[in-house]
Amino acid sequence: VDLLGRLAQLKDEPEAVSAIEEMFRMLFAPVDFYFVGWEDNAWKNLDKVPEILRHQVLALRGGWDWTESGAGFLLRLERSGNLAGIVAIDGLTWPQYRESYLDSARSLLGICTLVIENARSLKRIKWAEEVLRRATNDRLRESEARFQATFEQAAMGIALVSPGGSWLRVNLKLCQMLGYDQDEIMTLTFQEITHPEDLDADREDVCRMLAGEIETYGMEKRCLRKDRSIVWVHLTVSLVWKPDGQPDYFISVIEDIQARKEAEMALRESESNLREARRLAGLGDWKWDLRTGEHVWSEEIFRLYGRDPTLSPAVYPEVSQYFTPESWKHLAAVVEKGVKEGGTFACDAEVIPGDGAPHRWITARGEALRDAQGQITILRGTVQDISERKHAEEEILRLNAVLEERVRQRTAELEAVNQELKEFAYVASHDLQEPLRTMNSYAEFLQEDLGKVELSAAAQEDLRFITDAAKRMQTLVQDLLAYSRSGRLEVQDQPVSLDDCLVVVKKNLHSSLEACGGELTWGELPTVRGDVTALISVFQNLAGNGLKFRRAEVPPTVRVEAQACGAEWTIRVIDNGIGMEEKHLEQIFQPFKRLHGRKEYPGTGLGLAIVKKIIERHGGRIRVASVPEQGSIFTLTLYAWGDEKRREREEGR
Ligand code: ADP
Repeated sequence: VDLLGRLAQLKDEPEAVSAIEEMFRMLFAPVDFYFVGWEDNAWKNLDKVPEILRHQVLALRGGWDWTESGAGFLLRLERSGNLAGIVAIDGLTWPQYRESYLDSARSLLGICTLVIENARSLKRIKWAEEVLRRATNDRLRESEARFQATFEQAAMGIALVSPGGSWLRVNLKLCQMLGYDQDEIMTLTFQEITHPEDLDADREDVCRMLAGEIETYGMEKRCLRKDRSIVWVHLTVSLVWKPDGQPDYFISVIEDIQARKEAEMALRESESNLREARRLAGLGDWKWDLRTGEHVWSEEIFRLYGRDPTLSPAVYPEVSQYFTPESWKHLAAVVEKGVKEGGTFACDAEVIPGDGAPHRWITARGEALRDAQGQITILRGTVQDISERKHAEEEILRLNAVLEERVRQRTAELEAVNQELKEFAYVASHDLQEPLRTMNSYAEFLQEDLGKVELSAAAQEDLRFITDAAKRMQTLVQDLLAYSRSGRLEVQDQPVSLDDCLVVVKKNLHSSLEACGGELTWGELPTVRGDVTALISVFQNLAGNGLKFRRAEVPPTVRVEAQACGAEWTIRVIDNGIGMEEKHLEQIFQPFKRLHGRKEYPGTGLGLAIVKKIIERHGGRIRVASVPEQGSIFTLTLYAWGDEKRREREEGR
């Protein structure tokens, strides 16, 4: 019984065989015991069997046979036709019992076969287990290697973190991201590399995950690098559970989003700058989708129209409420043209803000956009506050009107003054000359009347003073008249031969030339455009001055020369007189301006003023150059007769 119990527990074939041998020896006490196994179509341990028995083993066909010696037997261990092996015993101690031994042995055959088969199955199972174990190990190693590669070469930082926050494993990318060595980072906790302000941010999510409410969560937060600088990351966390339902470790995937954050911040800043710029510029923009009827307004438009920004934009043509009827007429016309025909439009309009603010002016600009089929689908544009410009324009218009009115008034005043002056000149010419003439005549009469009376020298001198003064006054009045006339001179557009003029002048100055022994000469002179009487007076004045302001003991000479200069003639009047100092040259053309005493050089100081006026009325210029004690050169310009340019210029004027 004990043997059978042992047999049932046998692990492998050799053990089974030795147990079977032990049992057979105990029961039958043979000299020899052999077991030849049959497995995988081959005999096992056949070589250990003696020659004679071996033949018998190979030749055995039935279930059993006596051995050659007759003191033993061979038995087949067989189940359901499957041969497990052959047992041979020989040299039985008591061969006389061999029949009953055989029976006993045969009754044990079933169990022996079972034991052998069991051992073999067991061996096969073990072998299969071993194969399986090896295969599993290989796969594990492979998957670990794959995990390792993925973990280390990932483009994102990955960390395995214990539920307490310490690192279990950290990949290279995360170390690079945070600027730590792998060894350094392992000494830190997740909390230590998290920005203090963001520490609590994911606490709630962690709790929910530990409670099994969520499997994963993601968030943006700031991490601290080794150099304490900040890096923005996107963190995705999931939790791995132990088989016993306890949390094992967190898998944190950390993506560096610093560049994106910076771009976002830059974008936010530029958006806010743009918003601010639009606010400052008073520029709003709008869009109208003709397919959906949807209107979109920027903040600024709400402000410009004084519409509550919590409302939606006013739909076209409801927006007309914000415009004066006149402006709306224009605006609606251009918008509707845009809707129908496309293209761009622009229009100024007066806004009546809905919030009761003062009216403002805007420029509305827009364009129509077409879809791929050429259909106008969207209108978009801007609204620009131009109130300031409009007010400035209005102010300019107002000021212009004021200015024009002032100019008109001033002109009227000046005309009145001119008229008065003209009247004064008339009065002077007639009313003033008349008493002067009377004074002169009566002074002469008095002299005649007193002719017979012997007059004292003093009385004679008094009388001379009176006549001189009267004559001087007469000249002055006449010069004043000439000056006033020259200012209003209507220049005749006639050909004037300067040569002829000079002939007249020489004749007029004949007595003066005689008296001083002077000389008046001229070169070849042109025919110019102008007024003959006025030009004679010009040359008579200039030549007269040349003779008058002569040097003592130097006979005066006056020479007139002309030179063509484009469409103009430059005419120079040159004398050899006393000349003038440079600093006075500018002044001598002013009325009453004289550089020399009346006693030596009589005159009214109006001659050159008259000359300048006449030349300017002819469209010319006059200037002087002079050297004291050497002489003076008066240079004037006049237009040549036949010059068309001058006519054009004057007509243009
Ligand atoms: P008047 O000859 O009556 O004094 P003008 O207007 O002709 O007045 O001249 C103004 C002043 O210019 C003169 O008083 C004189 O001092 C100076 N002047 C004019 N012509 C000459 C000249 N040819 N040579 C020197 N001085 C001159």
